[in-house]
Amino acid sequence: MFELTFLGTAATMPSAERGLQALLVAADSDRYLVDCGEGTQRQMLRAGSGFRRLRHVLLTHAHLDHVLGLAGLISTLRLLDLRDELTICGSGQTVAFVRRLLASLWGEGRAPVPLRLVPLEPGPVLDRRDYRIACFPVRHSITDSLGYRFDTLPRRHLRAELLAAYGIPAGPLRARLAAGEAIHLPDGRHVTPEMVEGPLQPGASLAIVGDTEEVETLADLVRGVDALVIEATFLERDVVLARERNHLTAAAAGRLAAAAGVGALYLQHISGRYDAAEVAAEAARFFPNVRVMSDFDRVQVTARSRAAI
Ligand SMILES: [Zn+2]
Ligand SMILES: [Zn+2]
Repeated sequence: MFELTFLGTAATMPSAERGLQALLVAADSDRYLVDCGEGTQRQMLRAGSGFRRLRHVLLTHAHLDHVLGLAGLISTLRLLDLRDELTICGSGQTVAFVRRLLASLWGEGRAPVPLRLVPLEPGPVLDRRDYRIACFPVRHSITDSLGYRFDTLPRRHLRAELLAAYGIPAGPLRARLAAGEAIHLPDGRHVTPEMVEGPLQPGASLAIVGDTEEVETLADLVRGVDALVIEATFLERDVVLARERNHLTAAAAGRLAAAAGVGALYLQHISGRYDAAEVAAEAARFFPNVRVMSDFDRVQVTARSRAAI
């Protein structure tokens, strides 16, 4: 399961209600910040998330509304004496921009907390025991942009009725079976995990796309995910403007969600020129399970029953 906290949902410039782009993804005990627009650190405080256990920032691209909060966040980490290494990932172009930005403030390699800047190519980013992160290319203006996928691994769960039938008590023996080990019961019987497990359960999957100018190349990359987070900067009546500015309309986001068979559609990067209900209604013509996100909204992403797809 992943938990999302929407920290900033505005398009390009903040409004009274919306901060600039930032999304916190919690996976197990790890936390990832996807984009870090100006003011993100205050949004984190208002959301009650604080700064501890934040080790990774994943950047979609280097436009200012997505990265300008990094310097303030880094300064605050230093003032709070939180000196764990922070890894900042993005495309080569994005990471090079961040390197120049930080060097202009503190000098090359002299930021006040330990940083690791990691240029990514589309493909795997990180493998953890229970989930993995990958990135994929996204087209947006002249940027070298990336989207991110989070996938928990499929798992088998121990079945209570089988554990009871074998007389396996709660405690260390069950823990060893859950960890994939065979056990010997006090009466000498040998029990393997396969004897007490249920069928393979699919893992939860999440795709996050920052700014994008088209959806055709994305359908295969986000196909079947339980949750898709994507921008919806314009409405169809302003489609010419959307093309000029290299952004999507809500209708295009809805069409993508329908074509890719996702579970839920969460729209962000919302322009102050529209009413959120109008944005939701336009996307819902194509994909009904849609929500226009507000700052501080929280969402849990779990695996859907695949039978429902
Ligand atoms: Zn943007
Ligand atoms: Zn952009």
